[in-house]
Amino acid sequence: MNFCSHCGSRDIGLRVPEGDTLPRFVCSACGVIHYQNPQVVVGCLPEYENQVLLCRRAIEPRYGKWTLPAGFLENGESIATGAQRETIEEAGARVEVGDLYTVISLPYINQVYIMFRARLLDLDFGPGTESLEVRLFGEDEVPWEELAFRTITRTLRNYFLDRKRGAFPTHVSTLERRPPVRPELTAAA
Ligand SMILES: [Zn+2]
Repeated sequence: MNFCSHCGSRDIGLRVPEGDTLPRFVCSACGVIHYQNPQVVVGCLPEYENQVLLCRRAIEPRYGKWTLPAGFLENGESIATGAQRETIEEAGARVEVGDLYTVISLPYINQVYIMFRARLLDLDFGPGTESLEVRLFGEDEVPWEELAFRTITRTLRNYFLDRKRGAFPTHVSTLERRPPVRPELTAAA
């Protein structure tokens, strides 16, 4: 942070405010504390008969990879409304938002993913501006190696396992930073 978005001053620095425990960006001119907190990503797992709806990304990161419709929650929006909006924007798909399904913390990038199961209401869907392609996949057709994010892989893996068991509990988990590949191991192999 280079300047204060409240008063415009450049006299801003990281320090622990009185009574707080973490360093924050504090403006020395106006005294405003600029808190930075995680972003919430909301989305749907749209189901139609035995298939799920995926979108192929037309934007970076992960251009060309497949994902479930999801995006950043907006101010003034509930998580279910945000998930429904993202599904319309990215997949042109109308859904009835169902049960909360996965909640995944990503502390290393300061995000929380919240995914709902959803019932696709009709087959009149198509790519929005952020998608190249939208289509339904049966379990055997899911492009597992071409999925955009680990959160999406985890959500879909849970889903197909749960479908076999016939129960869809809410899954709450955390993904840590992926460990770097150790070159000495690659070389030995
Ligand atoms: Zn200020």
